[in-house]
Amino acid sequence: MYDYLVVGSGLYGAIFAHEAKAHGKSVLVIDKRPNIAGNIYTENIEGINVHKYGAHIFHTNNKKVWNYITQFAEFNRFTNSPVANYKGELYSLPFNMYTFNKMWGVVTPEEAAAKIEEQRKEITGEPKNLEEQAISLVGRDIYEKLIKGYTEKQWGRDCKDLPAFIIKRLPVRLTFDNNYFNALYQGIPIGGYTKMIANLLDGIEVRLNTDYLENKAALDALADKVVYTGPIDAYFDYKLGTLEYRSVRFENELLDKPSFQGNAAVNYTDRETPWTRIIEHKWFEFGKDENGNDLPKTIISREYSSEWKPGDEPYYPVNDAKNGALYAEYKKLAEAEPKVIFGGRLGEYKYYDMDQVIAAVLDRCEAELA
Ligand code: FAD
Ligand code: UDP
Repeated sequence: MYDYLVVGSGLYGAIFAHEAKAHGKSVLVIDKRPNIAGNIYTENIEGINVHKYGAHIFHTNNKKVWNYITQFAEFNRFTNSPVANYKGELYSLPFNMYTFNKMWGVVTPEEAAAKIEEQRKEITGEPKNLEEQAISLVGRDIYEKLIKGYTEKQWGRDCKDLPAFIIKRLPVRLTFDNNYFNALYQGIPIGGYTKMIANLLDGIEVRLNTDYLENKAALDALADKVVYTGPIDAYFDYKLGTLEYRSVRFENELLDKPSFQGNAAVNYTDRETPWTRIIEHKWFEFGKDENGNDLPKTIISREYSSEWKPGDEPYYPVNDAKNGALYAEYKKLAEAEPKVIFGGRLGEYKYYDMDQVIAAVLDRCEAELA
């Protein structure tokens, strides 16, 4: 009999399991996938750590989180600076003086501010949706070329039907600064995320290819408590209806040349290009292998966003009002299950970044394992 059965070997499950073991508890981790690490799984191919479930850049302002995670990996100094490609025109992201100069020819911060001010006038009052929020942040020109098409591909919904907060996380700067994140700490774990998760799970029993929901009764019988990091609606057999998720399809290609696009991420912000972005994985580690040698080949991934349907991987919770209300009902059911802890991006149906997952699970561990 184990003290805890942890369902999911992603970041949340791996940290919970590590902390439980450190507190003298016995733990079994299971995952339905053939590999550990959940969505941050990386696989080394041709010397390149490929982010198999989408590009992941660690960033945080939370010192406690940073101090915690760096016990399990050393991080490099990668800074995310994606480029936007709008019908062959290239723009710097996030929105900053390089972007404004290219868009409008403005040279000084004052000129850029005046241009934005003039364009944002069309929005009066508190922005009610993503379109209004975007125009009020950066004006209509940037909205039309760099936001509208990308966002509609990413979310499969009109910008008028999306919540404003999604776009609020992007910085807008009147300085020449292409750093995508306002974060004090940023980087990629050297050797890949999978190694980091393996370090967290060191000495812990892990069973892969094991679906909890298919063997629930037998697996429940193995432990006193369950930590569940899968989708909350799936746990309850969708009895109140399905929460909506966005899924992503990755099309990977190995190319026999040293560089495809010269940058880790290029966003295709027009509506017509079917993919949202192309990731070139080697640039997360400066194009070098672990010995510092230049890599002769490259691997790219085109990302296609799609609506989730049963059988797909659910990647992004759709945190709009309708889904928020349904989640609140599921949460009530979850609270009535005293032996189960629901955690992580799918268990809590929250658009969490990695650092927020770490903060959440550490809080949970403090309450649970003290
Ligand atoms: P997951 O990693 O999803 O782990 C859940 C695990 O549970 C999975 O391994 C799954 O197989 C398993 N599981 C589910 N159901 C069952 C079941 N029934 N039985 C057994 N196992 C089950 N965050 C950042 O900070 N920076 C980024 O750049 C970034 N980029 C992202 C890009 C993409 C495309 C996506 C989708 C997310 C991104 N994130 C990023 C967010 C990040 O992936 C999450 O915050 C984090 O990985 C969530 O960890 P988790 O443990 O909650 O979930
Ligand atoms: N976004 C955009 N154009 C871009 C990049 C992002 O319009 O080139 C918008 C889009 O709506 C996206 C949101 O900003 O959903 C947040 O972007 P972020 O990169 O933070 O999303 P992530 O993919 O990390 O969830």
